Amino acid sequence: MSYNIAIDGPAGAGKSTIAKKIAKKLGYIYVDTGAMYRAMALYLIREKVQPSETEKISAKCREADISIGYENGEQIVYLNGENVNSYIRTEEVGNMASASSPNPDVRKKLVELQQKLAANNDVVMDGRDIGTCVLPNAQVKVYLTADSRVRAERRFQELQAKGEPCDLDTIEKDIIERDRQDMTREISPLTQAEDAVLIDSSHMSIDEVAEAVVALLQPV
Ligand code: C5P
Repeated sequence: MSYNIAIDGPAGAGKSTIAKKIAKKLGYIYVDTGAMYRAMALYLIREKVQPSETEKISAKCREADISIGYENGEQIVYLNGENVNSYIRTEEVGNMASASSPNPDVRKKLVELQQKLAANNDVVMDGRDIGTCVLPNAQVKVYLTADSRVRAERRFQELQAKGEPCDLDTIEKDIIERDRQDMTREISPLTQAEDAVLIDSSHMSIDEVAEAVVALLQPV
């Protein structure tokens, strides 16, 4: 049986950094489910679908074949065979992902892909509904969060390092709005699974968080 570690939490809590680090340490596959929702969102943007066009999203999502592969340990997301990694990290795509991810047809398609990956591989999977819906039987479940100001400051520093103009208050406002959308949607809202361990990373280093997660692993 494969070993599954589920990490959920709001935007900017450090899920992907931690999940990648643990996957590397354990030799597991890191599965970034947000990237799949982002690839789907990119397809919808390219097809000129508006976030409010629910029926069009349901129809169009059937045309998008999303798959993942790995190059030098990095997850690559393919949209209809095209590597779209360099197009999915924009605010526009993130906002469309958040607006289209409540759609049941989008979720069904991507959840099936995620469950297949976890059934066949030892994985560290991060997202919003991994512990609650995608992998309810995961051996380890973590709900990773941090204060919205701290999350905004981390994002601010990332953007500054890239030389992109940004404003801390605007970033925090966007983060709070994204949380609201993800936590209040009807299907698979972001919430802590009953059996998930809560880790608040506001005052913890990356290494401290990674150690706290690894300490939860049970011997197989
Ligand atoms: O984690 P990331 O910011 O890349 O996710 C983008 C969006 O995809 C989230 O805001 C959320 O709406 C959606 N998502 C989801 N379920 C997941 C992962 C991401 O609904 N498992």
